[in-house]
Amino acid sequence: MTRYGELSGARGLLFDIDGTLYDHPAYLASHKQSLTERLAMELGRSYDEVRHEVRDVQDRLAAERGRRPSLANTFLEFGVSMEQNVAWRSRLLKPERYLGRDPRLAEALSMLKARFALAALTNNPADIARRTLDILGVGSFFPTIVALDDTLVSKPELEPFRAGLSSLGLAAGEVIMIGDRYDVDIAPALELGMSGVLVDGVEDVYALPEILGETG
Ligand SMILES: [Mg+2]
Repeated sequence: MTRYGELSGARGLLFDIDGTLYDHPAYLASHKQSLTERLAMELGRSYDEVRHEVRDVQDRLAAERGRRPSLANTFLEFGVSMEQNVAWRSRLLKPERYLGRDPRLAEALSMLKARFALAALTNNPADIARRTLDILGVGSFFPTIVALDDTLVSKPELEPFRAGLSSLGLAAGEVIMIGDRYDVDIAPALELGMSGVLVDGVEDVYALPEILGETG
């Protein structure tokens, strides 16, 4: 876990979902694989060829922008609109096949919910995000989800973060962004004046009530 900025005095927590509220490398890899397979079909080219090109384009954009782009932002370069990306994700991602209830996460979020306003901020569509949170058994802690279909703009762009802040009704200085990718989740939040916690996985989220208790 790495902390960025001032954590004391926060009133709201904005959570990334995938890789933050659960660890499942095989499921996360399946996102990229199914979306890349779908892109290959769309382009009428082989999966391997497209997979390498996606990686090359992602590397080029990272060098140009100084920040590694999301997969959805990378797919824009291949002519796949955000609307199309939302539709593909809704159809292809299968959280039920991989994830299950997490009582330790529910306990941690229950403690956090007593002290902070909570919202989720994800680069997946709202239906996938809602299903994911419900499977983990933590859907009730997140009445608000800011998803890819809300803004049609993907993190690390700033717009989803602004939407997250307005969903919480809080100023940037009152909110901590919690996520597992520095470039995608944390750097843009810091740019807007939020503080941040970069987690190595859900174990770090279990520890948040104590960490934030120390500083609050
Ligand atoms: Mg993530």
